[in-house]
Amino acid sequence: MKMHHRLSVLLLAAWAAFVPAQAAEAPASAPSKPGEQLLQALLAGKTSQAEEVQIGRRIAGNLLGAAPLVADETLQRYVNRVGRWVALQGERPDLAWHFGVIDSEDINAFAAPGGYVFITKGLYRRLNDEAELAGVLGHEIAHVQRKHHLKLLRQTQVIAALGGLLGSKVKDEEQLVQNLIGNGAEIAARSLDREAEHEADRMGLVLAARAGYDAYGLPAVLAEIGHVGRSDKRVSLLYKTHPLPAERLTRLGEAAGDRLDTLAPGQDGSGRFYRLP
Ligand SMILES: [Zn+2]
Repeated sequence: MKMHHRLSVLLLAAWAAFVPAQAAEAPASAPSKPGEQLLQALLAGKTSQAEEVQIGRRIAGNLLGAAPLVADETLQRYVNRVGRWVALQGERPDLAWHFGVIDSEDINAFAAPGGYVFITKGLYRRLNDEAELAGVLGHEIAHVQRKHHLKLLRQTQVIAALGGLLGSKVKDEEQLVQNLIGNGAEIAARSLDREAEHEADRMGLVLAARAGYDAYGLPAVLAEIGHVGRSDKRVSLLYKTHPLPAERLTRLGEAAGDRLDTLAPGQDGSGRFYRLP
């Protein structure tokens, strides 16, 4: 996917509103010592939560450099409120979760380690209510909780290490870490294991239901995406990185069995849903 590179005062304002105070320190100019520690942690496969957040922040920063947040503070605040409530239902409520709608007409959603979750404006536009938003965010939250991308990054860096990247060619550890983490958009676009995607669907559905939402939110979004033609460029990255919606729906149905029938009916939150102007 080639995202438009657009930087504006509006983007900076949105980014400042989105990132907590401590994240405002530019990671690019960080001293090499933390970079070295991060590298060692990655190499050892023992990344602390703080290091995971540091990695995720770099990836999120790169991602937003390629496609900025939608300059709509009400929208961003709303998505953060829903996302944080859904994330609280999961295994890692202590993470500082950040959610954002990125200014892209693609139909997709992304997660980065440490609690960074993004949904595109193109996907947001197709949502009908808050339960559907909760389902989509729940899927991405599950990726973070299960550290799917962090595990992928470890594999990537092991390959890089084997390839001699750790040789004397790169002297600056900070640069080395940046090389390993790579472009945020590219990392987020990397395909995970198909089973990881099905797991995220199951967990996402459960998280949204625990948060009090109609459990059919995520299945409804998958059905909706399934109506977009496979040749449509807006879904090409999503289809490249995820199993097809029909397969995901089938697997979700098999996993849920008739258990959804016995659930107390959840809310669709349509009255609260923020509609794009
Ligand atoms: Zn996914």
